[in-house]
Amino acid sequence: MTTKVIVAGGGIGGVASALALSKRGAEVTVLESAPEFGEVGAGLQIGPHGSRILQEWGVFDEVVARGVLPKNLVFRDAITAEELTRLDLGADFQRHYGGVYFVVHRSDLHSALVTAARAAGADLRTDSRVVDVVTEGDGVRVTLADGEELTGDVALGMDGLKSTLRAKLSEDEPVGSGYAAYRGTFPIDQVPFAADIEDVIGYIGPGCHFIQYPLRGGAMLNQVAVFHSPGYERGEVEWGGPSELDDAFARCHPTVRAATEHLWRDRWWPMYDREPISDWVDGRMLLLGDAAHPPLQYLASGAVMALEDARSIADHIPADAADWPTALAAVNAVRAPRCNRIMSTGRMWGELWHLDGAGRVARNELFRLVRGDGAYKYTDWLWSPQSA
Ligand SMILES: Cc1cc2nc3c(=O)[nH]c(=O)nc-3n(C[C@H](O)[C@H](O)[C@H](O)COP(=O)(O)OP(=O)(O)OC[C@H]3O[C@@H](n4cnc5c(N)ncnc54)[C@H](O)[C@@H]3O)c2cc1C
Repeated sequence: MTTKVIVAGGGIGGVASALALSKRGAEVTVLESAPEFGEVGAGLQIGPHGSRILQEWGVFDEVVARGVLPKNLVFRDAITAEELTRLDLGADFQRHYGGVYFVVHRSDLHSALVTAARAAGADLRTDSRVVDVVTEGDGVRVTLADGEELTGDVALGMDGLKSTLRAKLSEDEPVGSGYAAYRGTFPIDQVPFAADIEDVIGYIGPGCHFIQYPLRGGAMLNQVAVFHSPGYERGEVEWGGPSELDDAFARCHPTVRAATEHLWRDRWWPMYDREPISDWVDGRMLLLGDAAHPPLQYLASGAVMALEDARSIADHIPADAADWPTALAAVNAVRAPRCNRIMSTGRMWGELWHLDGAGRVARNELFRLVRGDGAYKYTDWLWSPQSA
């Protein structure tokens, strides 16, 4: 008999799970609270750990056609603009990792997954806010805000950083990092310095960093500015506003300051993660994606972890629905150590990027020493096929 899976949340993680599970024959319903499917925001970097999965699902060609294959990953000091290190993302890299590193607009990735999930038979519903999931006997009962109830064999809680369903497992709250992100995507011909950018470039500086890369076949430039907010330190409720943005980058090289002119200034994203938790299972419900393991974004792997989760749950569909509890425990057991390591390493990576004084000097010296194939030893744990 077909197994029935209900997914709470239709972000990248929820629709990717719908695709992976439907392709394996499950009957999947995704319940998304928003009135439409879509992704707010700008670009995403997808490392080889994500691109290999998109290849397995048969959506890679379409997604990458909407993105860009950057030539290098380049780190520069934000104050001097000096190049510190670069990782060539070409043929050697792709051979080593069995996949490419690419960048794509989040809405392009999301819409490709939505289309593929629907084509695979998944039922994707909007305007459907999940308020509760209860395990009853051999199944789950999912309650929506309008009172409607659905039943299934199992449920996935993929309702994001501010997850409602996580409260069934943990009393923890999102942890503010004190950093705010400004983003912006603009047609490349509207940005004077952008035409030659063919890399992912990260300027790292004291309490701030700035990321640039092209999108949509090079037609757009994507930029992200992240900085530590004095308003957060003062305990203000509304912290990270535009008045803080220019001050945060005042010490940076003119190249970086000029680039900050090309950001959306009417909205910004306070950066939160959570303390890692290891138990993601409540009866027949499993938390996945940001609901289970929301990282700070420094390793560019939050969305990729959600893709890995989707593949993992599809790999564990039991032949008999009675065996779902064992399957959920198995997914939890393989995914939690990896995701929690990415979360804690991401926090450290952010600290390294944002050093000032002697720490910055030592960091820069270390980065200058890391070049060529030898650099893979630092990233194999994250990107190699054996890592997930
Ligand atoms: C600035 C920034 C840059 C980033 N860059 C990268 C990157 O380069 N690479 C990368 O891999 N990751 C990156 N990430 C992380 C990535 O965006 C997230 O990890 C990823 O989007 C998580 O997907 P998700 O589906 O688990 O959660 P979400 O995207 O948060 O989706 C959750 C969905 O659930 C819905 N929902 C919420 N509550 C309910 C409810 N009660 N009922 C029903 N639906 C509900 C929401 O509307 C939403 O659609 C970045 C994040 C940030 C903030």
